[in-house]
Amino acid sequence: MSVRVRFAPSPTGFLHVGGARTALYNYLFARGQGGVFILRIEDTDAARSTEASLAAILEGLRWLGLEWDEGPGVGGTHGPYFQSQRRERYRAHADALHAAGSAYPCYCTAAELEQRREAQAARGEPPRYDGRCRGLDAAARARLEAEGRQAALRFALPGAAEVAWDDIVRGRVAFQSELLDDFVILRSDGLPTYNFACVVDDHEMDITHVIRGDDHISNTPRQLLLHQAFGWTPSRFAHVPMILGADGSRLSKRHGATSVAAYRELGYIPEAMVNFLVLLGWSYDGKQELFSLEDLVRRFRLERVGSNPAIFNLEKLEWMNGQHLRLLPEPERVRRVEEFLAARGHDLSARSPEWRAALVRAIGSRLKTLTDAEGYGGFVLRDDLTLDPAAWSELLERGEVGPRLQALAERIAADGDFSLESLERETRGLAVALDIKAGDLMSAARVALTGRKVAPGLFEVMWLLGRERTLARLRDAAARWESESPHARV
Ligand code: GLU
Repeated sequence: MSVRVRFAPSPTGFLHVGGARTALYNYLFARGQGGVFILRIEDTDAARSTEASLAAILEGLRWLGLEWDEGPGVGGTHGPYFQSQRRERYRAHADALHAAGSAYPCYCTAAELEQRREAQAARGEPPRYDGRCRGLDAAARARLEAEGRQAALRFALPGAAEVAWDDIVRGRVAFQSELLDDFVILRSDGLPTYNFACVVDDHEMDITHVIRGDDHISNTPRQLLLHQAFGWTPSRFAHVPMILGADGSRLSKRHGATSVAAYRELGYIPEAMVNFLVLLGWSYDGKQELFSLEDLVRRFRLERVGSNPAIFNLEKLEWMNGQHLRLLPEPERVRRVEEFLAARGHDLSARSPEWRAALVRAIGSRLKTLTDAEGYGGFVLRDDLTLDPAAWSELLERGEVGPRLQALAERIAADGDFSLESLERETRGLAVALDIKAGDLMSAARVALTGRKVAPGLFEVMWLLGRERTLARLRDAAARWESESPHARV
């Protein structure tokens, strides 16, 4: 039987990093097994499901490169892939369970149920349905219906038994069915509950493996009992560990961004995101850490997913992003930086390809995130220069800075070439002529041109700025130094 797996998000929010990791594991398992990766949208909750959320989820998956074989926009043999379009199927299957005596109508109102839950809580008992509608006879039902009550349909739990499965990640997991109650499968408005729709769909879509977060582990016994009542063979299950923040509590907004889109906006690239996510619970040999998506398709094994919670370590993601940026072929890196900067309002399209490549080369080896490009490249992306106060006051404390910057401007003004080579020759030539260390002249020029002490190589900086801006900034800094430095001679 060929492998069929599904990622089944509810479109009620953004694509969370936890969801993205679940999708990734499903994708890798399917690809590695030559199977099918299905995207199913669990949108039965009409009040909470939104188009915007759906769009964000699809966009996030595509950005990560997790293309699905069946689902929204793709179609497939087992559709529809939106639960909101499968209502008659749930109704028909619920009717079948009812007819077989495995489900019964329940007339209890929300208010009555709430009252009983409170009473149970007051007695220190776990909340569970007391089963009072299970034994109703036809006359009692007719009476309740005459009161205008709308019936929900509840699953009639079979007698006490152990419900167990062999989880691919966690090994044998067992629950006692007495801990469960007769849960609702179809609400009084005709909508299915999650557990019911999930079982019907997993069966009808021929899902062979359910890979999902272990927050669903308590749903699994209910789902297994439903499969059993239908006489269906359930898929295998793999419950992957939850993701924790650095402080050991469940990953949440308190720990920073939790949506994939936020990391994209912060300048992370999908190659790094995929690599980082896969390691939240899985390892290859405990040594190799950098993988491409193609590597992962070959190497990923569901059996090697651990059951211990995984820690979301932002520094590691940053490091990994820098590594993956470096691994990109240069033209691709240029494209990513350009695209990212364009989204931030820095349009480089009028610049020559040489210039754009030079910019990325100049800042490239330092990049951890694409956002860094805005910082390191800021000197040339913005017309106004922001001087780092600490760097500037250091220059003010040094003698002769103004006159030297002025002299450098004059030499460069006279340099007909304005190439990397000629800029270096002129700068070093001036240092020799003044009998000072080239490094001192260059560090002052770097602050004058970029506003910072740490910046790309000086000659690249000059070349990227172009003659006019280079001269203007050197002269401005010289004039400013003359008016602000205690060492100025005027
Ligand atoms: N819609 C459920 C969720 O988003 C799916 C759970 C499952 O994979 O069965 O958590």
